[in-house]
Amino acid sequence: MENQTEGIGMTSQRTRDRLIRRLREKGIRDNRVLEAMRMLPRHLFVDEALATRAYEDDALPIGHKQTISQPYIVARMTEALLADGVPKKVLEIGTGSGYQAALLAHLVEQVYTVERIEPLYQQARKLLMKLGLRNVRCKLSDGTWGWESYAPYDAIIVTAAAPEIPQSLLQQLAIGGRLIIPVGAQHEAQQLLTLVRTKEGIEQHKLEDVVFVPLVSG
Ligand code: SAH
Repeated sequence: MENQTEGIGMTSQRTRDRLIRRLREKGIRDNRVLEAMRMLPRHLFVDEALATRAYEDDALPIGHKQTISQPYIVARMTEALLADGVPKKVLEIGTGSGYQAALLAHLVEQVYTVERIEPLYQQARKLLMKLGLRNVRCKLSDGTWGWESYAPYDAIIVTAAAPEIPQSLLQQLAIGGRLIIPVGAQHEAQQLLTLVRTKEGIEQHKLEDVVFVPLVSG
């Protein structure tokens, strides 16, 4: 595992450092996020055949018509999540490869992540365990409903595009908590939003236009 984690050639630390420079050039400023991404072996979260492309700033297929998000988008969402102080308890909807969950595990105290496709859930869970990330808890379920038993969360991050904002996710936010979510139909303009739950209601900010695989109910 150690050799695998270190990587060689196209998965070496030098190649990873180059990705981090790209992210900086593209406007990512949060050093906590950049440093955590620099250390995280993204090539282990994709198929071996794609490992040499793992440190390009692109989304990559992970099977079952799903993708591991583009590093820039992962960085942007994680930066938005930390923008107002480090949340303790974070819920992720859409575990996929487990990459975003692994990144969060290095930055916050406790991560909960929900995936609806069983093989992806199994694979991600195994990899997260292999990497020794004991502060991540995985669940196989429809994440549209959140994960009630551990609510409220200081932050929720949704890594698939929702046609509209799931109300149950807003309800599972603590006061002052934030939801980072791409909203919009598939093949249409999607916007990455931050919603903050305040005592008075919900505040909404747009981060940027994005393209995500859809959040599927059931
Ligand atoms: N965060 C992932 C990105 C995965 S792509 C990563 O770092 O690799 C989005 C994922 O959301 C897919 O795996 C998809 O199966 C999952 N998904 C879509 N709708 C969902 C739902 N309703 N509940 C849980 N997961 C869902």
